[in-house]
Formats: sequence, C-alpha cells, structure tokens
Amino acid sequence: MTETGPPPGADGPEVVALLRTMLGFDTTNWGRGRSRGETPLARWVVGQLRQVGFEPLLLARPDAPERANVVLRVPGTEPDLPGLLVHAHLDVVPAEAADWSVDPFAGVLADGYVWGRGASDMKDMAAMVLATLRHWGRTGERPRRDVVVAFVADEEDRGELGAEWLVDAHPDLFAGLGAAVGESGGEFRAVRTADAGAGTPAVRCYAVSAGERGTMHLRLTATGRAGHASRPGADNPVVVLLDALHRLAHHRWPVHLAPVVRAQLSTLAAALDVEVDLDEDAGVEAALERLGEAADPARWTSRASTTPTVLEAGYKVNVIPGSASAEVDVRCPPGYDEELLAALPGLLGEGVEHTFTSFQRPVEAPVDGPWFDAIRAAVLRADPEAVVVPTCMAGGTDAKAFARLGLQCYGFAPLGEDPDGRRASGVHGVDERVPVASLLWGAAVLADLMTTT
Ligand SMILES: [Zn+2]
Repeated sequence: MTETGPPPGADGPEVVALLRTMLGFDTTNWGRGRSRGETPLARWVVGQLRQVGFEPLLLARPDAPERANVVLRVPGTEPDLPGLLVHAHLDVVPAEAADWSVDPFAGVLADGYVWGRGASDMKDMAAMVLATLRHWGRTGERPRRDVVVAFVADEEDRGELGAEWLVDAHPDLFAGLGAAVGESGGEFRAVRTADAGAGTPAVRCYAVSAGERGTMHLRLTATGRAGHASRPGADNPVVVLLDALHRLAHHRWPVHLAPVVRAQLSTLAAALDVEVDLDEDAGVEAALERLGEAADPARWTSRASTTPTVLEAGYKVNVIPGSASAEVDVRCPPGYDEELLAALPGLLGEGVEHTFTSFQRPVEAPVDGPWFDAIRAAVLRADPEAVVVPTCMAGGTDAKAFARLGLQCYGFAPLGEDPDGRRASGVHGVDERVPVASLLWGAAVLADLMTTT
C-alpha cells in the first residue's frame, strides 16, 4: 500500500485531518469497566471547540474521571423549534495490532482510505460533527434549531459511563430537543434483487435506522438434587436446563413486522420493482428471499430471537451437580416486548428460574414524520437519485439511552459512494477503514442536515 497525504493536523480537508488525529488516540474499551484514553480524547475535542469560541462541557461520572463525555449546545436561529441531538461515541473496541496491515492507532491515510480502529465505528462521524462545529465557530454561521452535540464514552460496553449516565444525571442538557441522530445508517449501497442478472442497473440506496430491536439478557438457573451420576433421577438440573435451552433455541418466533421494518421492505420492493405481500408470514419470507442482501437486516428484525450463548454446570463427570445455569441473548422487534415476555415462561417450562441481567426495550421512531423527511431531503440534495430506506437495527446503540428522553432516534452517519467502489469495512474486525471520498460526502451531508433542518 502507498501512504499518501499530509500527516494528521496538516492542511487538507479538515474532516480527514480531524479523523486521523482522533484515531491516534487509543480509546479502547475492553468492557467491564476497563478502558483507556477516553478522557484525553475528550479533552482534545474540548480544545478543538474552544479554539473556535465554543465552551463545551466536559462531564464524567464522579467515580470515573477517566471516562469523560463532551456536551455542547449551539443555540439555533429559530429557538422555538424543537432541537436536534447529534451524538457519537469516542470509545472503540480492542484491536490486535499484530493482525492488522497498519498500526490501528496511527490514523494512516493510504490507498484512498483512512485506516484505524474506530475509522467507521464511529470516529468518522465524530470527526464530521466536529468539523461542522468548527466551521460554525470560525464563520459565525448558526443552525436553524438548537443543536446539542454529545461525544460520549462507553458505547462499546453498556453506556453506563456515557449515554445512559448523561441521560440519568443530566437530562436538563437535552431539554427542548425533539430528535436524535447517531450511529449506524446512511451509508451508500448499490442494491439489486437476489436474482438480478449481471447487467441489471443498481438502485442507489441509503439505509437510515429508525429503530432497534430490544436487547434482553436472560440468565437461567435450574436446581435439583446433587448425586451420583450412576443413579440419575428426573431432576438432573443439567437435563432440565438443556431441555429449556433446546426449546428456546429452536423456537421459530412468528414474524412481527414493526412499522419501520414494513416500511423498509415496501420501500425496497418499490425501488427494485418487486411485488411483495407483507400481510402473511409466508409473504414476508418470500420478500426477504427475493430482495436478498438488500433486505438485510430485516431477516433478523422481522422476528424475535432467543440465542443461548453461555453454559455453566458441573464439576466432575460422575457427579450430578446441584444446579446448572445459562445465559441467553434475547432480541425483540419494536412493539413485540409484551408478547415475547408472555411467551417466555411456557418455553422455559418447569424447574427453570429466569432473571434479566440487562433489559433494554426496543426503540422505534416514525418514518413518515418531519425528522425522517429532513434526513431524506438532506440525502437527496446530495444524491438526487437516492432511495432512502428506513431500517431497523438487529442490535443496539446509544439510541436506546437517548430514546428514554422521549427523543425520536435515528441512525444516520452518512457515507457517500466511493468512485472506485471502496467500502467502509473492518468494524470490530481487522483493518478497519473508511474511504476518504465517502467521508467527505458524508461530512457535507451531515453539515447540511445539522445546519438547515
Ligand atoms: Zn459504534
């Protein structure tokens, strides 16, 4: 690979320089409270904002000063309008440098990409937002609505020191806001149907997240009588637990199309000129198959899932243990929480106790209201042929925390088409990178949305 361009901080498109510098801060979040570097990066962000005349807040939970967040409110020219929150997390997942082609914490610019852990999850959007704020600071230009920007810690674990904590401890910072824009969504994709021939022209799609499945972590415990394995009884907790896990894992949850998923499938079907019938499970299955990759992640978000992931039981092969336990990852489409909770005891059966170790309800925002329209309009101004597709995330982001404030939460971290077909890649994997062309397009679109909406 050829390394090109100026080093971080040098002249050139500011968003690229900002991103490269931010990638140089190792802000690894290992989870379970272990992390490094969030406060040094937060302080650097504060410095970048002070340089252009803003006075942002640096906020950390008192027992975790090394896990700081930055919040800034920029008053709009029409303060009576509901405001917009724009949020981005500063932490990243770990990177094994030995597996990478480049140093993951050096902000390398090469081959038309910016490389590094966090390049597309999500220091790219953090850099775009920072570039917009610095532009406003330098020029005196101001947004139409109040815009609150939050650069947060701890998204890659549980947000307890970042978004969740800010929402609990400082809800006043978000007063008067109507919607939030954050992680996930807004990336260009050329899509075709699953059975399209090689010459079929692609549709220019941008998926904008308007919902997330709920994330519920379930702990199961079966208890019985410990004893000699040569004389098994019916109450072996390992067997009781396995039976319950078998029922859960193999349960085919019925299709439940939340409005956002229905809108996703019908928008895609219209754009790709495919007839679909979304009123019956079989029709939804057929639509998912026909739409192929374009319909990702609706194959997961159109129903709940209960996935066993952790097992603990036993200590010696000839001893029946007194208890056995397991953990199950439960995901729930918007609007399906109550049905799922009602069905769980029947699936678990007798003899298995359950508790939730975490419980985050699904979130969903309207796809036929003014905020989604504003996002779509910003994309269309930059790409008149765009098809903006609402989508629901299979997993979750900080939107779950900010939705607790009553905000309509959207995932929109725009990335445009790279003329040579490069794509952002490597999220949570190796060689994470974002195409420079995509980043520049995204920065312009996000600035447009933040300024004119
Ligand atoms: Zn992320």
